[in-house]
Amino acid sequence: MIDLVLATANPHKTHEMRAILEQLGFRVHPRPSDVGDVDETAATLEGNALLKAHALVSATGMVAVADDTGLFVDALGGQPGVRSARYAGETATDNDNVVKLLVELGEGLERSARFRTVIAVVYPDGREVVVEGSLEGEIALAPRGSGGFGYDPVFAANDTPGRTLAELSPDEKNTMSHRARALRALPSALSA
Ligand code: IMP
Repeated sequence: MIDLVLATANPHKTHEMRAILEQLGFRVHPRPSDVGDVDETAATLEGNALLKAHALVSATGMVAVADDTGLFVDALGGQPGVRSARYAGETATDNDNVVKLLVELGEGLERSARFRTVIAVVYPDGREVVVEGSLEGEIALAPRGSGGFGYDPVFAANDTPGRTLAELSPDEKNTMSHRARALRALPSALSA
């Protein structure tokens, strides 16, 4: 078995990733508590995922897996994109970010958007494997629903029209999410 370390400190993501990676024959470890967060300074999701994974390989000597996600809104030229977590400022809450998004978009008719998740796997010999998953949808006119997190209350996926991600059950969201799609692309990418 090959030892593998995850960059994320988020328990939900750890759970999702562990299940798939263990099936692929990896022994999955959480990020060691003495290894801190990496500044996400790259201009792309891929760049940030690779930054985080390389830093973790250097710190641990193990195969490392890191992910990065963003919401890309067409009428805003792809914003908030790579800055999704910090859209309304460095210390922004999910609600601050949602409010800023609705203000920037106004009541414009062009509301198409997509979530994109990139997962990077980096090996100690420097080999990189990168996969991506995306979810197409539209930005709602106002927040609806109480589930999920982040921009879920204002994102209605094309596969579940009329309902925001925050109005879906966790299972419904987690089977079709951008993160789940990226994870499902991992097995064939890793065995290629
Ligand atoms: P991260 O790279 O997974 O930390 O995601 C960056 C930001 O994108 C988060 O802070 C959220 O604002 C947003 N985000 C990521 N995944 C989701 C999701 O599944 N639903 C809603 N917002 C998300």
